[in-house]
Amino acid sequence: MRKTPDSPDSPSGKSVNRERNSKEKGWKNATKDEEVVERIKKAKELYELYGKQLKQEFVEELGRLDRAIERTQRFMRVTGLPELCKECAEKGKCCCRPWVADLFDEYDLLLNCLLGVELPEEREVEGLCFFVGKKGCRLKVRQVICVDFLCPEAERLLGEKEIELREIEGEELELAFILKEKVKKKLEELTEAR
Ligand code: SF4
Ligand code: SF4
Repeated sequence: MRKTPDSPDSPSGKSVNRERNSKEKGWKNATKDEEVVERIKKAKELYELYGKQLKQEFVEELGRLDRAIERTQRFMRVTGLPELCKECAEKGKCCCRPWVADLFDEYDLLLNCLLGVELPEEREVEGLCFFVGKKGCRLKVRQVICVDFLCPEAERLLGEKEIELREIEGEELELAFILKEKVKKKLEELTEAR
C-alpha cells in the first residue's frame, strides 16, 4: 500500500508500465533479508559514530525534509489515499514489492535514523518489501518509486489533485536527494579526519 508510516506504499507515475515491468523482474531478483539487515546495521553504526555531528551540521536541512515529508503525508490523508491503500493491502494487493528494499543503501537508511526512525532488523510482513510493517511503511525517507507510484485506482481517487500531490512530493524528493549527497560528503570528511 502507498506511503506514509501509517500505510505502506507503492511505486508509478509517468512511467507506470515500465516500472511495473521492472517490478515484476525485480520481484524475482529481490535480495535476501540478510543483505538488507546488513545495510541497516551499517546505517546504525554510522549513526552511532557520527549521528550527533550530522544532526548539528544539518539541523536546518533535516527540519526542512521532515516538514516536507509531513506535508506530503498530510495531503494524502486529506485525499483519503491511506484508506484506499489500507483496504487494498487487506485484500493482499499491496504494491510494496520485495525488491524495493534493495534500493536502500546505508545512507538512505542513515537519513531515516537522523529523522528519528528506529530502523527495524526483522521483517513484519512476509512476501512484501522488508520495510512494510503491520501499520504501514516503517520508514520516513523513502525511494522515489515509493513516493511517486500511483496505481490506476489511486490516480482515479486523486483526479486533478494528482498534479498538486506531484508538486508536494517533488519537494520531499529533492530535499532528500540533496541532503543525502551532503551527508555522504560530510562522512567522507569525518572518516578521513579519524
Ligand atoms: S491502492 Fe494502489 S497505490 Fe495503494 S496500495 Fe493498492 S496498489 Fe498500491
Ligand atoms: S520502503 Fe517499502 S514499505 Fe516503504 S513505501 Fe517503499 S516499498 Fe513500501
